[in-house]
Amino acid sequence: MVLHGPGPIEGGPLRVEDVDPPVPGVGEIRVRVSACGICRTDLHVVEGELPARRAPLIPGHQVVGRVDALGSGASRFALGERVGIAWVRWTCGACGFCRTGRENLCERAEFTGWTADGGYAEQAVVPEAFAYAIPAAFGDAGAAPLLCAGIIGYRALRLAAVPSGGGLALYGFGSSAHITLQVARARGVEVYVCTREPRHRALARALGATWVGAAAEPLPVAVEGAIIFAPAGELVPAALRSLAPGGTLALAGIHMSDVPSLAYADLYRERVIRSVANNTRDDGEGLLREAARIPLTPEVTTFPLADANRALGELKRGGFAGAGVLLTDAARGV
Ligand SMILES: [Zn+2]
Ligand SMILES: [Zn+2]
Repeated sequence: MVLHGPGPIEGGPLRVEDVDPPVPGVGEIRVRVSACGICRTDLHVVEGELPARRAPLIPGHQVVGRVDALGSGASRFALGERVGIAWVRWTCGACGFCRTGRENLCERAEFTGWTADGGYAEQAVVPEAFAYAIPAAFGDAGAAPLLCAGIIGYRALRLAAVPSGGGLALYGFGSSAHITLQVARARGVEVYVCTREPRHRALARALGATWVGAAAEPLPVAVEGAIIFAPAGELVPAALRSLAPGGTLALAGIHMSDVPSLAYADLYRERVIRSVANNTRDDGEGLLREAARIPLTPEVTTFPLADANRALGELKRGGFAGAGVLLTDAARGV
């Protein structure tokens, strides 16, 4: 599914095309894709809210498949082994951020489905050092949303620093939030979910949310941490007011509308606002380990790969709860 230029998803900017199979370079592997999760970031790329970094582009950065070719020097994975490809595709390894465990901030980083072709395709390549082994606890479709929704939620949860037995507020309840809730519940955290969509509310309740309400409603208690998943800056003041003193509000999206002016009293008493940028490979390995141990159960709605425009349109409208995942013909047995 190829993007030649951004446009409203309703106009079908992704086109089915035959392209040459990608060739793995030095240290790279090629993956025969079975499943690729859809992410709000894909929607931002396809609709142009994130500036295009290349054209044409194949989006998609939650890719699960099997290794079908090894580039020169690649030896970490065997042919046929199941692997995942995530958003961070390469970092320089040499800059101050990379050398201090913060490769998520590397200014030369490359990103799957944005600066390089991604997984809305039958094959994709990735440097082997940035691929992940997929735990056996998950099927292909169930594993796909772990690779961005899961990893970014996991990092946001870490930055929000909620102690066991503490309270966590989630604003917006899409793919990432529904995985983050499960990790938080397994850690003994009480979760409060603010979302409008009735089917998102129902899923939050089913997964063990302590309370579900609207963003403007005051929470029944002050919480130690909060995460905003919705790309809506206007949620920031309400989320800050839900925090206990010393609490942290993490902003999990790569794109957000402007944040309105804040009353200092809402921030005072050492409340913290942190954005979440990308992830390190440690975040990815940590999420996959913890997800398999729980084991958490992603709620997945699948679409044929060729229906990527429709799938992203449904994501935009809140048409399904949990995660959307594209399946290739090979995975669908077609
Ligand atoms: Zn770097
Ligand atoms: Zn993503």
